Amino acid sequence: MKCDICGGVAVIGMPQHRLNLCAEHFVEWVPRMVERVIRRYAMFTRDERVLVAVSGGKDSLALWEILIDLGYQTEGVYIHLGIDHDAYSDVSQEHVRRFAEGHADVPYRVVDVRQEYGLSVPELSKTGRGKRLCSACGLVKRHIMNRIAYEGGYAAIATGHNLDDEAAVLLQNTLHWQSGYLRRQAPVLPSTHPRLARKVKPLCNLYERETAAYALVKGISFVELECPHATRATTIFYKELLNKLEGRSRGAKMQFYLHFLKAKEEGLFAPEKADADSETALRECRQCGQPTTAEELCAFCRLWQNIEAHHD
Ligand code: SF4
Ligand SMILES: [Zn+2]
Ligand SMILES: [Zn+2]
Repeated sequence: MKCDICGGVAVIGMPQHRLNLCAEHFVEWVPRMVERVIRRYAMFTRDERVLVAVSGGKDSLALWEILIDLGYQTEGVYIHLGIDHDAYSDVSQEHVRRFAEGHADVPYRVVDVRQEYGLSVPELSKTGRGKRLCSACGLVKRHIMNRIAYEGGYAAIATGHNLDDEAAVLLQNTLHWQSGYLRRQAPVLPSTHPRLARKVKPLCNLYERETAAYALVKGISFVELECPHATRATTIFYKELLNKLEGRSRGAKMQFYLHFLKAKEEGLFAPEKADADSETALRECRQCGQPTTAEELCAFCRLWQNIEAHHD
């Protein structure tokens, strides 16, 4: 297999783009694809500051690397969840630290949930009112990212979701006709409140094998373990289904996702009136000030309040 640009040895073939590239041309091509998406969906500009949610995994570190190379103003945030099994959180944090050290000490911060709030995420979910671990974890991560973005005046929060992630979610939501989720699934979620930064997914047009190849070619060291609590069997199943489809029909996965975005732009999923109303009905949480649709406390503060009640 030869590189379509220089004729050298290709390291990756991307049939959906009818493109084979050598290492050198592949690492030039990936950031160009990302830049195109950033502009196409007006994710952020070079004058804005972007908070990158880094987990220590290949996608989020590849994203950070690309944004740095493209000259965007970034800061990484690693949330130490206190997952002790296999020292998962410590090992992941170490990859983030090494990455920052290798990039002229790009700014990043670590938020240690146990240190800052008194309990790790697994402890919190055990002690709380039976909130499932991953849903408590998601809530905690969203709250912390929103808080840091607001306090630091960041315009956007970027995450490393790739096209396979997005297409798997899309397939799942379509099979269940989850219209609310389908309406909200997008490369950019605009800010709906002055205290909420935009949420953006600049890797959403890259296949997972491309982000993985990019991380490898660039020599980024990343955590290969999955979170020991991941119950991602369903997502993996949908990803496999889509890859089977891709095997039969080149580009099927990409078209499934990109045509969905196009259909949305053409008004297929016009917002319901109820959606528009609920956005304006956001109040500020009495305790932390973050926007919420609840009367008094946001879901994050309610979670911790339950714990305190438990301990009294
Ligand atoms: S899989 Fe791990 S990191 Fe992901 S939400 Fe669940 S506990 Fe959190
Ligand atoms: Zn080449
Ligand atoms: Zn709150």
